[in-house]
Amino acid sequence: MSDRAAPWATEVESKAERRRQRLAQATGRQRAARLLALSLVGLLLVYAGALFFLRPATSGTSLDYGQLVRDAACTAPRCPAKVTQATLLSQDNRLVGTLVTPGGGGQQFATALPSADPTTLLRDLAAGGTRLAVDGQEAKALVRFLAQFLLPLVILADLFALLFLLIQGGGGQAAELVRFATLGSRRRTAEARPTTFADVAAAGEAVTELAEVRDYLADPSAYAAMGATPPKGVLLVGPPGCGKTLLARAVAGEAQASFFSIAGSEFVEVLVGVGAARVRDLFAQARASAPAIIFIDELDGVGRRRGAGVGQGHDEREQTLNELLTQMDGFSPAQGLVVLAATNRPDILDPALMRSGRFDRQVTVDRPDVEGRLDILTLHARGRRLVDAETDLALVARATPGFTGADLANLVNEAALLAVREQATVIGRTHLEEAAERILSGPRRRGRLLSDEEMYTVAYHEAGHAVVAAALGKAGAVRKVSIVARGRGIGHLATVTGSEDGSVRRRSTIEVQLAVALAGLAAEELVFGEPSTGAEADLERATAWARDLAGRFGMSEAVGPVRVLHEDREVFLGRDYLTSGDVSQPTLEQLDGEVRRILEESRRAATGVLRAHRPSLDDMAAALVDQETLEGPDLEAALSWIASRPRRSSRSD
Ligand code: ADP
Ligand code: MG
Ligand code: ZN
Repeated sequence: MSDRAAPWATEVESKAERRRQRLAQATGRQRAARLLALSLVGLLLVYAGALFFLRPATSGTSLDYGQLVRDAACTAPRCPAKVTQATLLSQDNRLVGTLVTPGGGGQQFATALPSADPTTLLRDLAAGGTRLAVDGQEAKALVRFLAQFLLPLVILADLFALLFLLIQGGGGQAAELVRFATLGSRRRTAEARPTTFADVAAAGEAVTELAEVRDYLADPSAYAAMGATPPKGVLLVGPPGCGKTLLARAVAGEAQASFFSIAGSEFVEVLVGVGAARVRDLFAQARASAPAIIFIDELDGVGRRRGAGVGQGHDEREQTLNELLTQMDGFSPAQGLVVLAATNRPDILDPALMRSGRFDRQVTVDRPDVEGRLDILTLHARGRRLVDAETDLALVARATPGFTGADLANLVNEAALLAVREQATVIGRTHLEEAAERILSGPRRRGRLLSDEEMYTVAYHEAGHAVVAAALGKAGAVRKVSIVARGRGIGHLATVTGSEDGSVRRRSTIEVQLAVALAGLAAEELVFGEPSTGAEADLERATAWARDLAGRFGMSEAVGPVRVLHEDREVFLGRDYLTSGDVSQPTLEQLDGEVRRILEESRRAATGVLRAHRPSLDDMAAALVDQETLEGPDLEAALSWIASRPRRSSRSD
C-alpha cells in the first residue's frame, strides 16, 4: 500500500508547492501595494511639512510697503520713523528689520516686497543710514526645489504604481487570492492521507457506480485498447452533506489521480468571459496532470437551463456553460480525465449537460436510512472511545431519520466535545443524545426528527403508492419505498421509476399513473380519516397530468379531441400552460370540470384498490416504520404477492 501511495503524495506535494509559490507571489504583490500606500501617506506628510517650512517669515508687525518707502525716502532731520537695520530675505522676498520711532524704542517689522524691482527702496534705505544685509536662505531654496519639483514627481510615481497594482489585483487577483487560499486549505487536508471508498459508508450503490470511474482512471489505456467508451462525466445528485464531495475525493484517492475541485459559483463572474477562461484553465491544468478528476461542485450555479434567465448577467453564465460543454466534448477517451459534478437540483440543469458524452451518468447520493446511518456513525466513531458503541450507536441511528452523513459526522464530534467538557474519559449515551439534540435545534438544519404520528402518516402514504402501483400492474416500476426525506424539502417519495417517461402513453397508462399518484392521499384518508399536507407534490403532479389528459391529448370524452392547452416553454424553471388563444370560456370551464372529475375518479380508484389490499397496506406501513426503507428482495416479495392476487376492478365506475 505504501509503495503505491508514494507517487500520489509527491504529486500532491508538487502541486501544493506550486500553489504556495502562487500564494507567495500574490502576497508579495499585496505587500508591495501596502508599502506603496504607506509611503504615499509619508510623502504627502513630508510635502505638507515642506509647505509649512516654506511659508514666508512673519516676525514682528507687518508693515505696509508704501509706508516703508515713504519712511525710507524721508531726508528731513525729524522723520516720523527710521529703519535702523534691515535684512532682505531673498527666498521669501521680504524685508525684516527694526523700525525706530523718535518718541520711543525700536520695533520689529516685516514687509512683503513687490515683485517689481525694490532697488529704489534699498538705495533709499542705504542712503538713510540703515544697516542692510541679505539672507540667501539656502535651506529654503533647497526645500523649495524639493517641494516644487522632486516631491510631486515622486508622489505621482508612487500613486501610479499603486494604482497599477490595485487594478491588476482588484479585477481578478484579489478574488483569486481568496480562492487560492481557500482551495489551498481545502486540498491540504487531503494531503495527510488519500480519501478512499473505505471513508464512505452507506453509499454502496454510488460506490459501485463510481468504481468504474476508478478502474478507468487507474488504467485509461485499457479502455482505449478495447475501444470502449469510458465514463466522461458523472453527475452526483443529492442533498448537501450526503457525501458527494467525499465520494469524488474517494474516487481520486482510489485511482491515485489528481483532484481539481471548483464550485460552479466560482465560474460565474461579473465580467463576461472570465468564467469561460477559468473553465479553459481548469481543463488545461487537469489535462497536464492526468489522470485527473475535475470536480465541479454546485453545477447548477453554472449549468442552469440556457435562455431561461431573467435580467442581465446570464450572458456570462451561458458563455461559461458553452465553454464547459465544448471542453467536455473536446477530450478523448485516452486522456484519463473524468469530470464529476455535484448538484442537488438536477431538475434545473440544462438538458445539453446530460447529453451522451457529457454528464450522461447520474449517481444518486441520498440521505441514509437507519442501517446506513449506523454504518456512518460507526465509521466516524472509529478511534473514539464509547461506553457501549454497539447499542448506543444503534439507538442514535434509530432516532435520527433525515440526518445526512455530515450531520452524523458532526453528531459524533459534538458528542466527543461534550464528553471532553465533562472531563469524561469515554463517550456515553447521554453525550450522543445531547449532541443529536444540538444538531436538531441548530439553525442550519432543514430536515427534522419525525414524531411517531408523522412517521405513521408518511409510512401509510408511501405504502399506499406502492400497493396501488403493484395492484395495477406497475410493481416493476417501484424500486424503493422509503420514509426518509429525500431531495429538497419534505417529500418522502416512493421511487417509481419509468412512470413519466415513454413518449407514447395510452390513456389507460396515464389513468394508472394518476391512481398511483393519488394513492398516498387515498391511503391517508382511508387509514386516518383525513389527508395530510404531505400530498401536495402528488396533487401538483396529478393535476398536471389530468390537465394534459383532457386539455392537450384530447383523451376526455367531455372536452373531445381538442387541444385546448399547450405547454409554455418560456417560463423559467417549470411548466405552465397557455390556452391556444381561440378557446372559448365555456370550453375552459368544461376543462376545469373534467380535470376535477378525472382526479376524483383516480382517487376513488386508488381507494378501491387499497380497501381490497388493506392487510398488505398495513404490513408494508409497519415494515416502513421499522426499517424506513424497503428495497430489493423484501420489496419484491411484498409487491409480487399483491400483484398475484386477483385484481378487483381498479375503477369504481
Ligand atoms: P456534500 O458534498 O454531499 O455536500 P460532503 O461530501 O461534503 O457532502 O460531506 C461532508 C462530510 O460529511 C464528509 O466530509 C464526511 O465527514 C461526512 N459524510 C457525508 N456522507 C458520508 C458518508 N456516506 N459516509 C461517511 N461520512 C460521510
Ligand atoms: Mg459538497
Ligand atoms: Zn406521495
